[in-house]
Amino acid sequence: MKFGDEGFFTTKLESILAWARKYSLFQYPFATACCGMEFMATAAPRYDIARFGAEAPRFSPRQADVLWVVGTISQRQAPVLKRIYDQMADPKWVVAFGTCASCGGFYDNYTTVPGVDKLIPVDVYIPGCPPRPEAVLDALILLQEKIQKGGREPIVVPPREVPTLAQIRAKKALR
Ligand code: SF4
Repeated sequence: MKFGDEGFFTTKLESILAWARKYSLFQYPFATACCGMEFMATAAPRYDIARFGAEAPRFSPRQADVLWVVGTISQRQAPVLKRIYDQMADPKWVVAFGTCASCGGFYDNYTTVPGVDKLIPVDVYIPGCPPRPEAVLDALILLQEKIQKGGREPIVVPPREVPTLAQIRAKKALR
């Protein structure tokens, strides 16, 4: 669209706001189980989530943009999770971290919520039990792209190919 056309400023302003939002995400980690260990690993220097402007956790939902649901959610925890989501200001996004948060995992019983999307809308699903930190960073990048483009279609982080031992050795030999 050329400068001066109708809608130029609105379009550009939304694009700039989306750009600013995607690089200043404040996270609310709702960690309940073993997946929490991998979530913590992403904040450590090896994976360094700070590179993506998303290192700052907020333990008040009113100050958070992204709700990370990390681990199994029991039926008793469900109302708490829903309330936290409701307390977050718009725009807000949700990541289901790991198989348990995405679909209940192997806890196929009456005490476990079979996926947090039964309670709140989910933007990005991360498969894995637990997901590797690389998958978590992939999820964050996908979420940032989604924030820039707009829209609320759910995304699933695609699997990565795990290198074989022979491939790792060959790579080391090239160094
Ligand atoms: S997905 Fe696996 S690692 Fe994560 S909370 Fe469930 S059982 Fe634990």
